Amino acid sequence: MYHQPVLKNRRTLLERAEKFISEIYFTDCNLRGRLYGDACPLESISSSLSRQRIPFLEAVKQNFEPYQVGDTFGPTWWTCWFKVSLRIPDSWRGKQVHLSWESDGEAMVWRDEQPVQGLTKEGEKTSYILTECLKDDEPHSISLYVELACNSLFGAGQGSMIAAPDPDRKYSVQKAELVVFKSDVRELLTDLEMLVDMVKLLGEGEQRGYQALFTANEMVNLCEPTNPSSFPAARSLAQKFFSQRNGESQHTVHAMGHCHIDSAWLWPYEETIRKCARSWVTVIRLMEKNPHMVFTCSQAQQFDWVKSWYPGLFTQIQHFVKKGQFIPVGGTWVEMDGNLPSGESMVRQFLEGQRFFKKEFGNYCKEFWLPDTFGYSAQLPQLMQGSGITRFLTQKLSWNLVNTFPHNTFFWEGLDGSQVLTHFPPGNSYEMKGKVEDLVNTVKNNKDKGRANHSAALFGFGDGGGGPTQLMLDRLDRVQDTDGLPRVQMSSPDRLFSELEADSSLLCTWTGELFLELHNGTYTTQAQIKLGNRRCETLLHDVEVASSLALCLNKTFQYPSEPLQVLWRQLLLNQFHDVIPGTCIEMVVEDAMRYYQDIRTVGTRLLRVSCQALGSEGTMTQTGDSDSTATSVAVLNTLPWERTEVLPLTGGAPDHQQPCLALVTVPSVGVVSVRDATATKPVSLVSVKVQADGTILMENGILRAVVNKDGCLASLYLVETNREAISHGCSGNQFVLFDDVPLYWDAWDVMDYHLQTRKPVVEVVSPVQIASPGGLRGSVTFTLRISDKSTITQEIILDAMCPYVKFNTQVEWFESHKFLKVEFPVRVRSPNATYEIQFGHLQRPTHRNTSWDWARFEVWGHKWADLSEHGFGVSLLNDSKYGYSVHQNTMTLSLLRAPKSPDANADMGSHQFTYAVMPHTGTFQEASVIQWAYNLNNPLRLIDNAPGSHTVAWSAFSVSAAAVILETVKQAEDRKDGLVVRLYESHGSSVSVYLTTGFPITEAWHCDLLERVDPSRPAPITASGISISFSPFQIVSLLLYLK
Ligand SMILES: [Zn+2]
Repeated sequence: MYHQPVLKNRRTLLERAEKFISEIYFTDCNLRGRLYGDACPLESISSSLSRQRIPFLEAVKQNFEPYQVGDTFGPTWWTCWFKVSLRIPDSWRGKQVHLSWESDGEAMVWRDEQPVQGLTKEGEKTSYILTECLKDDEPHSISLYVELACNSLFGAGQGSMIAAPDPDRKYSVQKAELVVFKSDVRELLTDLEMLVDMVKLLGEGEQRGYQALFTANEMVNLCEPTNPSSFPAARSLAQKFFSQRNGESQHTVHAMGHCHIDSAWLWPYEETIRKCARSWVTVIRLMEKNPHMVFTCSQAQQFDWVKSWYPGLFTQIQHFVKKGQFIPVGGTWVEMDGNLPSGESMVRQFLEGQRFFKKEFGNYCKEFWLPDTFGYSAQLPQLMQGSGITRFLTQKLSWNLVNTFPHNTFFWEGLDGSQVLTHFPPGNSYEMKGKVEDLVNTVKNNKDKGRANHSAALFGFGDGGGGPTQLMLDRLDRVQDTDGLPRVQMSSPDRLFSELEADSSLLCTWTGELFLELHNGTYTTQAQIKLGNRRCETLLHDVEVASSLALCLNKTFQYPSEPLQVLWRQLLLNQFHDVIPGTCIEMVVEDAMRYYQDIRTVGTRLLRVSCQALGSEGTMTQTGDSDSTATSVAVLNTLPWERTEVLPLTGGAPDHQQPCLALVTVPSVGVVSVRDATATKPVSLVSVKVQADGTILMENGILRAVVNKDGCLASLYLVETNREAISHGCSGNQFVLFDDVPLYWDAWDVMDYHLQTRKPVVEVVSPVQIASPGGLRGSVTFTLRISDKSTITQEIILDAMCPYVKFNTQVEWFESHKFLKVEFPVRVRSPNATYEIQFGHLQRPTHRNTSWDWARFEVWGHKWADLSEHGFGVSLLNDSKYGYSVHQNTMTLSLLRAPKSPDANADMGSHQFTYAVMPHTGTFQEASVIQWAYNLNNPLRLIDNAPGSHTVAWSAFSVSAAAVILETVKQAEDRKDGLVVRLYESHGSSVSVYLTTGFPITEAWHCDLLERVDPSRPAPITASGISISFSPFQIVSLLLYLK
C-alpha cells in the first residue's frame, strides 16, 4: 500500500523527508519530536565554585550550596562543581535512561570518584547514559558530581572566537534532568538523515540520488511516529538501500576517530589537561559500546599529563591501545610548529615523543601526524626517517590562500633526498562528522584520482569537544559499502598507509618545503616567545656540551640527565603550534614565559656546575698542573671551531685599552684560561670618527661603514675587495613601518597588501653619536621615533677581527596593527636568496614571476639569510628573529608586529634583539656565514672562579672540514658511559671528514635519531679521528663509547 508511484517532484519529496526529521519544524508530529520520552527532575543539585582547577577529592570537600537550573556563575576560567542526586523512576523499567545536561562551559561527570564522561554542548555531548536498559536489580538512586570549567570549547573570546577572552563572562546550566531515550527512533532518524543527504549531495545528475529520494519518501509513508511497531518496516527499506553495493573500483575511505586538541591556544595549558581527560574518557565510553571503533591520538605531552592527573583513565587508555582501538600517532612530544624550532629541537620532539610512546604503549609510532601546523620544513622527511617514521599525515596546506597544492597522496622529498609517503585527507578537515558530505568531498577533492584509491577521513570534535559521537559512528556504519558513496571502513593510519604503499607506483613526488601560503605573521608575532625559544635552545646546547665534557673528564660527574629532560620538555611544549607562532592568548604567553624563565634559571645553574667540574677536572687531566690555589677565569667555546672574538670580561681582565674587553681565541669545543686566550693581538684595531659632514666612519680593517645621523648605513665597504655592499643611492639599516591589518587571523596573518603601506622611520630623537671610540670595539648610538608612543634606540657595533656590523636594538613598542622591519638594499643581483633552516639551508626566489613566487612575500628562516651573486654577497644574521623577505636586491628582516587578537597586548613593551649584516667575498659557505651566525647566537661563556686554571688550551672535539657542523654533544639516553654526537653537512656538498676528540673513545657506531645503534655500521676510528662520510645536508648521529 505504501509502494505507490509518485510524481517526480524532487523538491517536495526532499523537503517532506527533511521536515520529518527536523529539530525545528513540526516536532509536535514528526519523528524527531519522539526521540526522547518521559522526563523527570533530579532529586537535588548543589554547587561549589572554585577559582583554581582542583582535584576531585579536594573539590568534594568544598561547601556545596543548593543550585537552581538557570542560575549563573563564573567568572571565566573558574570551575563550578555540581553535586547531583537522582532517582530513576521504577516505571522506566526496560528503558534507556540518560542524564540530560545542557550547560555553557565544558563538563566532566564523576562517578564513584572516577571521571566517566565529558559533557560539552558544542561537541554534541549532552547525555550521560545512566542505563542502556533499566532493570529492577540495578541501583535507581545515584550520586554524581559534574565538574564544569567556565570556558567554552574555544575559550571565551569576546565577540569573536579569536578575540581576547572576556574575563567576566557568566555561565549557567540550562537543563539537568533524567530522560528516556528511544534508540529505535534514533536509528530511523539516522537512516533518513543519510538518505536525505545523499539526495542533496549526489544531485539531480545521479540516478542514485533519486533512488535515495524515493526510499526516504516511502519510509515516511510507512512510519507512524507515535507507533514504534511501524518502524521496522521503514528501517528494512533503508537497509535494503544501504546494502546495494559498489563496484570493485570504488574509492575506499579510511575513517578514524580523532580529537585535535591544541596543547594551549585560546585557553591555558592547565585547561588542556582537563580537555584531554574529558575527551578521552568519552572516547573510552564509545569504544566500550563499539568494539570496532578506532581513535587516533597524538602528542606524548598530553598522554603524560593524563598519566599524571588521571592515572585510572590512563590505565584504561593503555588497555585500549593494546586492543588496537586507541592508536597513539605522531611520534613527537607535541604537535610542534613545523618552521621555527631548531633542527636539534625537532630531533628532541621525536626523541622525547617516540621514547614515551615506546615506554608507555610498547611501540614507536610509524606515522608523523601534524594536521594543523603552519608549514613544514624541508628537513622534516630526513628527521622522520631518522626517527623510525616513513609516513606523514597533514591537511593544512588546503588553507593556502593563493595556490592549490597539487596532491593529496604523494612522496615528499626533503632537503637531503629522504622521502616519506605523505597523505592529506582530501576532505580538508580533521574534524569531520561522518556525514555523506564528508565522504563525497573525500572522493571529489582527491587530486590524485587514478593514482591513489584510499583516503583518510578523520572524524570527531576537537579541542575538548570530545571527539566522535555515537551518531557519527552510526552514520559511517550504514554506508560501509553503499552504491553511490565511497566504501568506508573503520581503519587505522597503519592500514591506510599500508594500502597506499602497496599501490604507490603512480604517485608523484614533491621536493622541498611544504610552504603554507597563509599565517606568515607567525614568524614574528610574540617576539619574546621567539627570543625565549632561541635563547633556551642555545642554553640547553651549551649545558649538554659542558656536561658531556665534564663527564668525559670525570666519570663520577653526575650528568644532569633528569633535570635536562624536564627542561627540554618545557622547551618542546612551548614549540606547540599555537605557542611558538604567537597565536595564543595572553595567559598562554605568560605560561610560556614562565617556562623559559625556569629553563634559564635551572639551565644556567646546570651550566655553572658543569663548568666548575670542567675547571677543576680539566687542570688535572689535561695538564697535570696542580696549581689549584689559583682562582681564575676561563672561557668556554661550545662550538666546533676555533673562535677569535672580542669578549666582555667580568673578572680581572688583562691589560688592554678597554679594561672590560678582551680579544680571545678559544679552541673548538674547548676551554682556555683568559690569560692564554688573550694572547692573540688584533691585526687591526677599530676606529670610529665623526666626519666633516656629520656622518660617522667606523673601520676595523675588514669593513668600513659610514653611518648617517639617522643611524642608516650610507655605505658598507668590504675593504679587501673594494666592494660596496649598499645599493647605489640607498641606505642600509633602514627601519620601515607597515600597516598590518589582515583579513581575520590577526596574530597569524600578514597580507600581501601590507607591502603597499611602507613608510620609512625617519624622525630622529637623538642623532648618531659615538659611544665607544674604538680599540677592540667601536660603537655609535642613536634614537628614532616610530610614533608618539614608540621609539628605537640602537647601538651599532664594530669589533676588531669581526666580519660583520652588529646592531644591538632596543624598541619601546606600543603600536596597533603595525609591522616594523629593517631593510638592507644591497649591491647584489640574484634570482634566489638563501635561508637557513633546520640542519641546512634552502633557496627561495627574489622575484614575483608566478603565483608560487609572489605568494612567498614573507618567509621564514633561522639564524641567517644570504643574497649572493658570483663572488660576492651579503648576509643578514640575527639572534632571535624568524621572518624575512628578499625582494629583488632588498633584504628585509621582520622585527615586530602589533596584532590585537587573541592577545590584546601582544608584543607591547620593551624589546631587545640583535641582528648583523655581513658582506662577504665568495659564497656564503666560503665566507663561513654559517659559523658566524652560530657565533652570534652562542656567545663564548666565561667560567668564573674556576678552581684551578687551564694553562693549556684544550679542545674536546673538532671536525676536519668546515662543511660539517658538530651540532650536538650529549650523554646517550640509555648508556651512561656513552656520548651521542650529532653532525650535519651544512654546505650542500658530499664530503668525508674526521671527527677528532681528545677523549678516549673505545667504539663509535652510527645510530639513528632515537639513538638506536645500526650494528652494521661502525664508524672507523683512525689515527686522524673518527671517519665519517656525508651527502648534502645529511645528519649523522654517532654513539661513542667512553673508556
Ligand atoms: Zn591546532
